[in-house]
Amino acid sequence: MNKKRFLLVILTIFTFVTTRATEGMWIPTLLKVVEGDMQSMGMKLTAEDIYSINKSSLKDAIVHFGGGCTSEIISNQGLLLTNHHCGYSQIQSHSSVEHDYLTDGFWAMSMAEELANPGLTATLIVRIEDVTSYMERGITADMDMAKQAEQRAANEAEIVAKAIENTGYDAFIRPFNYGNEFYMIVTKTYKDVRLVGAPPSSVGKFGGDTDNWMWPRHTGDFSMFRIYAGADNEPAEYSEDNKPYSPKEFLRVSMDGVQEGDFTMVFGFPGRTEQYLTSSAVDYTMNMANPMRIHMRETSLSIIDAAMKSSDEIRIQYAAKQSRISNAYKKWIGQNDGLIELRALDKKKADEAKLRSMTDANGALLDEFDALYKEIEKYSFGRDLLIEYFYYGPEILDLANSFQRFADSYEDLEKEGKLEDARARLIATIEAHFKDYNLPTDMLIFESLTALYKGYIDPSFAPASLSVIDGKFKGNMKSYTEYFYGKSAFSSKEKALALANSFSAKSTKKLAKDPAYVLMDEVLGGYGEKIRPDYGRLNAAIDDNMKVYVKALERSFPERTFWSDANSTLRLTYGKAEGSAPRDGMEYKFYTTTDGILQKYKPGHRDFDLPERLVELIEKEDFGPYAQDGEMRVCFTGSNHTTGGNSGSPVLDKNGYLIGLNFDRSWESTMSDIMFAPERCRNIMVDIRYVLFIIDKYAEAGHLVDEMTLVKVGEEKAETEPAVAPVKQVH
Ligand code: ASP
Repeated sequence: MNKKRFLLVILTIFTFVTTRATEGMWIPTLLKVVEGDMQSMGMKLTAEDIYSINKSSLKDAIVHFGGGCTSEIISNQGLLLTNHHCGYSQIQSHSSVEHDYLTDGFWAMSMAEELANPGLTATLIVRIEDVTSYMERGITADMDMAKQAEQRAANEAEIVAKAIENTGYDAFIRPFNYGNEFYMIVTKTYKDVRLVGAPPSSVGKFGGDTDNWMWPRHTGDFSMFRIYAGADNEPAEYSEDNKPYSPKEFLRVSMDGVQEGDFTMVFGFPGRTEQYLTSSAVDYTMNMANPMRIHMRETSLSIIDAAMKSSDEIRIQYAAKQSRISNAYKKWIGQNDGLIELRALDKKKADEAKLRSMTDANGALLDEFDALYKEIEKYSFGRDLLIEYFYYGPEILDLANSFQRFADSYEDLEKEGKLEDARARLIATIEAHFKDYNLPTDMLIFESLTALYKGYIDPSFAPASLSVIDGKFKGNMKSYTEYFYGKSAFSSKEKALALANSFSAKSTKKLAKDPAYVLMDEVLGGYGEKIRPDYGRLNAAIDDNMKVYVKALERSFPERTFWSDANSTLRLTYGKAEGSAPRDGMEYKFYTTTDGILQKYKPGHRDFDLPERLVELIEKEDFGPYAQDGEMRVCFTGSNHTTGGNSGSPVLDKNGYLIGLNFDRSWESTMSDIMFAPERCRNIMVDIRYVLFIIDKYAEAGHLVDEMTLVKVGEEKAETEPAVAPVKQVH
């Protein structure tokens, strides 16, 4: 055995021993801790290549998209890549029956054709700073919780003000590990972000709700945007004169493909995980919150799905709303199944028993948790119910709320001479509301969800005006609904506009008689008065205990890996491209191909229809340079720990080159926000070459591929693998 071979064998063994499917979402400034592990799995980069404040690094190409998803810069002209489902509401808002971009896709063939999206933002991370010691200044042991919070708020204001002084930056501070640490995130937000391209939904959403959260998957879940900046390359409000943003860094796109076992990392903004919840909290989620949410959403989805099927206009109007509702609905079903299968409650209880057996203080802490969770249950449920009913329920209440904001500030606006501007904004809100509104559909949603809401709500929180349902209307929800919409000014555009145009100080009397206004006020006002204060107080007490609890867990289970729960801040997760065998008798391959697209194809089906042109390209195997061994790969899975918010995150290879786009998790992973299971949790990514194939071959928008930097380093692999692979330009 020559020396090099020997070294290779040793390395292979070493890799095998130290590699594990990796749980955790790592803070970019702390990557030194896992750098060795990542390198042992094959990564060729250093922690400094990924996050640096001294030089440009990969983090400069990662962009928080609209505050919810992740996107990445893939050209020197600010071209952004994200998921189709992340750009969905923008694609929807530009769509009409005449220009149905949802069905047909949209491709700007020149920059002049790119479409503006008011309100959409692209946020870059300038730096992340540990400010724990500053946040603790002036805090003493004898201060109660409220005083401590006050002091921290004052500290935060001071630190943030200093950080952004004389810059165009924003900054905020987030607690990590339940306030054991605090980090300041300094950001730069661009506000002119234009739609560049989106495949038809039959590609970008292929498989629809049927395949969502499922593997095997065949979805080309991507869309493209572009950041525009002022002449100085700095953030600017939308203007025709703005220029494409010239970034500090952009991602190179790999044409090498992915082999099973290859190192992968996902860089993005995971939203929320709750790994450290106690058994009582998990019990609440599984047995109270999730069943109610599933019930509410199942009900509204059955109405929306039927309405969308009945007309193209409603299909376009409700597309984005339907997705918003159905995505979490399906996840919660899987989450509950997964938590049951993992025996999550038993595991949590076993941990708690061990903690109790270790110290009395642990026991006292857990007793306190139990008492707090018992007390907060009613308020948490009231809050969760409000979210389902008000934010995901009948939209008439939402419009009434816009009027309330206007009415409440009426006098001040008048005094300050800003009344007419505010009125114009209200009118714009009304126009936007009715653009995507169908009255009979909203009435059906109201009728069904109000009945459920009434059944679920704790009697002490119940809105008084709903008592007429059982009184005057003798339990007849249909007649109540007809009365409600008939009498309200918010059920038609004409009535709402007339009220907005004629609104004066006296109009408040009118509002007080409007049933939608009254109910909205009771639901929201009731929350503010009867739920929020106690919920806030108890939640703060729980958080305070959690701060101690996570430390107790760390001490008691030294063999476990601990990491700070996701909180919508930039994180890196890493793992391998790998399949899984999540259930007895089954084994999933780690990738899918276009063969599977044709297998699933059902002409005319809501989820499995295909554009003819795509069928042709696949049948002719006209894949251009994007195929591998004669196959066009579509999606692949990996053991990267991801969650919502990681949608649209780049999947990077060992050299930091883009190999895919994260968009989902498998059905067997849906509980991973609460309990991660390395043997079964897999994230789902679309292969970047399928993205390129759709852009180039299907949409004939090759100019966008030309704008990217494609690299191929595969051939150079072999024995003498360089530390940083040389770049070979393909396009
Ligand atoms: N498809 C998911 C979502 O955005 C991504 C995930 O949670 O893994 O909801």
